[in-house]
Amino acid sequence: MYSVQTRIFTLDPQNPDPAVIVQAAERLHADGLVAFPTETVYGLGANAFSAVAVGRIFEVKKRPFYDPVIVHLSDISQIEQVARDIPSLAYELAQAYWPGPLTLVLKKGPQVAPNVSAGLDTVAVRMPNHRIPLALVETSGLPVAAPSANLFTRPSPTSARHVLEDLNGHVDIILDGGDCPIGLESTILDLTASPPTVLRHGGLDLDLLRERIPHLQIARRYVQTDEGLPMSAPGMLAKHYSPKAPLLLFTAQTDAALTRLRDLASALAGRGFKVGVMTTMEDARHFSDLNLEIADLGSAADLPQIGRRLFAQMRRLDSLRVDVILVRAPAQEGLGLTIWDRLFRAAEGKVFDLDKPLEAEEIISLLVKKEE
Ligand code: AMP
Ligand code: MG
Repeated sequence: MYSVQTRIFTLDPQNPDPAVIVQAAERLHADGLVAFPTETVYGLGANAFSAVAVGRIFEVKKRPFYDPVIVHLSDISQIEQVARDIPSLAYELAQAYWPGPLTLVLKKGPQVAPNVSAGLDTVAVRMPNHRIPLALVETSGLPVAAPSANLFTRPSPTSARHVLEDLNGHVDIILDGGDCPIGLESTILDLTASPPTVLRHGGLDLDLLRERIPHLQIARRYVQTDEGLPMSAPGMLAKHYSPKAPLLLFTAQTDAALTRLRDLASALAGRGFKVGVMTTMEDARHFSDLNLEIADLGSAADLPQIGRRLFAQMRRLDSLRVDVILVRAPAQEGLGLTIWDRLFRAAEGKVFDLDKPLEAEEIISLLVKKEE
């Protein structure tokens, strides 16, 4: 295992100290690992041209080798260093949405280390909308391969503390630039597919892409993959973005249905489970008289805030050692679709409809099985 003394530098996200960026760039040139904030989540960066450096990302994250990594750029013209046969649509989208939470899958250039792409002949690229990684890429002169800076399967990190929790002693430098402004990963668009296909919902609204790509296709999500085979998007793994405690996701059209969730929480607490509820401010009153751990997602009307808080609240409930986490799903539109996607994966498909009667015993038996 790649082991080092981890150093943390606190930086102004608007105006990072160039001397610190130079030190971090030197670590990248020495095949080291540097974690940094982006507008989406914290990334764990390595020189995308070095298979040794990229191998360390996989090692310390315990990431399966078949799960490819996104390459971060600081300038549109850099696309040509990492990709080939670039369609004009790539430049058009980059002009419109970079820097920003849009990742483009293109044909891979020969210089990019093969493990960046998990052996595929494509490469995923984006330009983050954050001064720290932009300065790091520019100063190092290297495209930076970086997946999220968490252990595989744990919730993505949205603060430097989360990175330290998962990777202390296995990353050379953590650049602490505060909390991530979006808190959800990028939207991934495959431009090698025809028509262009969304592989992962993310921080960029699909309606913006539809304006330019009328026949935009959405990949069938939640596909089963045979372990060991490359897949179109790693975020498709069933167990992903998950807290340690089992997370149960509930859909509800009416507020009345929420009393069912309240009754379930109460029944679980009565059976000795330590129950965590991730809830909007508006729904929280239904649970206020119960002995639960409440994780506040903010107002239901403020989806960006829910997005920013989602992974951090999963981690907080984990640190409180809850036995189970109950969440009401947001409406599946706009950013709500991305939030739904992350919750669905965290729930590993355990979704229940609150508009129908709920079998508390069935749910309890599910949890008991998980504990054994
Ligand atoms: P992470 O940043 O940890 O979410 O991981 C990087 C993401 O990039 C994965 O979820 C993949 O979906 C995506 N990705 C990276 N390279 C490729 C590629 N060549 N083709 C498709 N998806 C990719
Ligand atoms: Mg990840």
